[in-house]
Amino acid sequence: MNINQSATSPLAPELIEQFRKIVGDRHAITDAADIEAYVTEERNLFHGRSPLVLRPGSTAEVSAICKLASEHKIALVPQGGNTGLVGGQTPHNGEVVVSLRRLDKIREVDTASNTMTCEAGVVLQIAQQKAAEVDRLFPLSLGAEGSCTIGGNLSTNAGGTAALAYGVAREMALGLEVVLADGRVLNALSKLKKDNTGYNLHNLFIGAEGTLGIITAATLKLFPKPHAVETAFVGLKSPAAALKLLTIAQGEAANALTSFELLSELAVDFSIRHGIDVRDPLEAKHPWYVLMELSASSDDARTPLETILERAMEAEIVDDAVIAASLAQRAAFWKLRDEMSAAQKPEGGSIKHDISVPVAAVPAFIAEADAAVVKLIPGARPVPFGHLGDGNLHYNVSEPAGCNNTADYLARWHEMNAVVFEIVLRMGGSISAEHGIGVLKRDELPDVKDKTAIELMRQLKAMLDPLGIMNPGKVL
Ligand SMILES: Cc1cc2nc3c(=O)[nH]c(=O)nc-3n(C[C@H](O)[C@H](O)[C@H](O)COP(=O)(O)OP(=O)(O)OC[C@H]3O[C@@H](n4cnc5c(N)ncnc54)[C@H](O)[C@@H]3O)c2cc1C
Repeated sequence: MNINQSATSPLAPELIEQFRKIVGDRHAITDAADIEAYVTEERNLFHGRSPLVLRPGSTAEVSAICKLASEHKIALVPQGGNTGLVGGQTPHNGEVVVSLRRLDKIREVDTASNTMTCEAGVVLQIAQQKAAEVDRLFPLSLGAEGSCTIGGNLSTNAGGTAALAYGVAREMALGLEVVLADGRVLNALSKLKKDNTGYNLHNLFIGAEGTLGIITAATLKLFPKPHAVETAFVGLKSPAAALKLLTIAQGEAANALTSFELLSELAVDFSIRHGIDVRDPLEAKHPWYVLMELSASSDDARTPLETILERAMEAEIVDDAVIAASLAQRAAFWKLRDEMSAAQKPEGGSIKHDISVPVAAVPAFIAEADAAVVKLIPGARPVPFGHLGDGNLHYNVSEPAGCNNTADYLARWHEMNAVVFEIVLRMGGSISAEHGIGVLKRDELPDVKDKTAIELMRQLKAMLDPLGIMNPGKVL
């Protein structure tokens, strides 16, 4: 991967000591073995290097780090749970890592205003649990929720499996506290739904992937906890059939339809063969599957789910379906879905795309992309799966079966991206639906985004981070 050299200064030993004084001895890591976990990521796609990892314990410490870094032009890479998929949290050029994981307090839960104020390092699952304890729902949900953090979720504007009903991370944040590159603290924490007092500044930092400032806290929206949740696993013939099922489900259940995941046969097959504790919920194999979930404020989500499936079966849209009979069975359905990314690893190299197109265009996109990638690399195996309800697919393509040169296959990553992105753009879609740009798609961004938008992004970056110390070389 071609990653630009950072334009910032190298780190002198005296400066390391000054940083150490800010966070305390225990939280300034210089030992190479201890640093390893912060410079690699789970899939081993990116491997960085850093002389120093700082683990601040408060907003004041983050502010002091940024002030010192800007005085000496030292590049910083903010990091949360290190689960990002585009290399944004990796120090590719020896930058200092600022790990936010010690900022893990839930500052306040306000059930009357339906808000929760969390520090950036709170793990998503802990935030969900805290909401459940007060009979509320924090609906952001994704496969990495046991380790990703609220700060990382907001910085990547994460989507996940409930975006269909509740929106993406941006829509769940009412306000933020952010430390700017020069150490100033922007206090834009707010519980207000309505606040038209000029520019909406906090939104700038959501989805900015740590390039404009460091998020230290957020005020998040809470929602009523559903009284009934029902989940079905469905076998069908095609993405077009899945789209018809989606239309029926939305007509019947409206916003109670909280997840609608489309899974290809190969994605399910990999998950069953390589996933941990994964079983096939249906008796026979099907070319396509849908995992759908209804969450109702009443006590009954089962009747509408059964109605949807009956109507779809009568119309010969659905070939087989099973509704989870217990919490354990529902968890098993989701385990099959959650293991899907990891289960591709034993099948060799996988070239990944996280794309979105208008929902109605998903079947045509899959047909065109399948044909195009197989034409480019005969035998390549498309493994599409994802959030059909949001028009968002993880269009991953595994190397041909029996391929004995994974490196050669992966060397064609950008070539295959170009083929897939051409179809995406022609259909009015996006080359990054929810994972962000990081370094993985940075070089493609200027080719696919409006020229004026890119200009404005560069101007905003120059205004908020004139020295270029905030996560340099990412996004732009
Ligand atoms: C198994 C698995 C499933 C996933 N499923 C989904 C999914 O369904 N939907 C989805 O959207 N993503 C998904 N992801 C991607 C990833 O989990 C999310 O992007 C997540 O939001 C990242 O959070 P994190 O705390 O791990 O951030 P990191 O990986 O640590 O950082 C990600 C980016 O945010 C920046 N950053 C982190 N914290 C801060 C902060 N406090 N202030 C400023 N910048 C910061 C980093 O510099 C980096 O650019 C998945 C990942 C895995 C491994």
